[in-house]
Amino acid sequence: MNTNTTGIHHVTAISGEPQKNVDFYVGVLGLRMVKKTVNFDDPGTYHLYYGDGKGSPGSIMTFFPWANAPNGTQGTGQLTAASFSVPESSLDFWKTRLAENGVSFDEPEERFGNTVLPFADPDGMSLELVANRDEREGWDDGTVPAENTVRGFHDVTLMVANPERTAEVMTKHLGFREAASEDGRVRYEAGGGGAGDSVDVMGGDADFAERMGVGTVHHVAFRVPDYETQKGLREEIAALGFDVTPVLDRNYFRSIYFREPGGVLFEIATDPPGFTDDEPLDELGTNLKLPPWLEARRDRIEESLPTLDIPKKGQKENV
Ligand code: ZN
Repeated sequence: MNTNTTGIHHVTAISGEPQKNVDFYVGVLGLRMVKKTVNFDDPGTYHLYYGDGKGSPGSIMTFFPWANAPNGTQGTGQLTAASFSVPESSLDFWKTRLAENGVSFDEPEERFGNTVLPFADPDGMSLELVANRDEREGWDDGTVPAENTVRGFHDVTLMVANPERTAEVMTKHLGFREAASEDGRVRYEAGGGGAGDSVDVMGGDADFAERMGVGTVHHVAFRVPDYETQKGLREEIAALGFDVTPVLDRNYFRSIYFREPGGVLFEIATDPPGFTDDEPLDELGTNLKLPPWLEARRDRIEESLPTLDIPKKGQKENV
């Protein structure tokens, strides 16, 4: 049975104040808010999903905004950079846009033949823009002109103490293959390869372990096409001795989680049913959506959540 993953599904991180998070990811990066829901395990806080116009797997960045949580520290055993894909010709646009919004960025660097622009979000979360050829569409009705939009993830970088142990799980069990290596960084690809299907693994010092908190990643999810593949992969991972969760219903996908040998929390998420399961495409992200088991508590939940203002096309972003 084929139990391969086919690339990145989403990345979930911890942010501070939610409005600041929305202003940055919608107002500056021009992503679409594809789902406004709550943390199913902590319904008094939001779970915000950003992505392309359709909420495609491979474009989804999600946040648990915890306004009063302590800042995290980036380090070994963590996803240390989430890299978004932008059109090859758009880097000047992005430099100007980031500068105009007070976002500082590092000197662009060349990596595997593409130009990469490193910067951070308002909570210090490390992001990059990778200028490359990417046939995917972004969010054309967002705050960024269609020709320059973020197309989804390009890749993510994992920093772990023993890269070969992480690589072994990825290549033997998750369907990744080694694609290239450069400057202590090994690139692995799943599915069709390229943008959205790439994961870079780097070696890090075990004495400088990450500390989870605001501005750090909680987990990375890899995609599988259906529930059967997920079931097969769950059995395979359990047989290896990993402590893997049961299949959990995340409303828009089903998930299993396990911690890989380097300490990064991996999730395997299904493509179905997707974000249009409880909201039509043209309304994605506009209503507070709750899973059926929380609907009875909607009034109390709505009262406890701050109102969010979602920046729109043509509106000067307020950051
Ligand atoms: Zn997740």
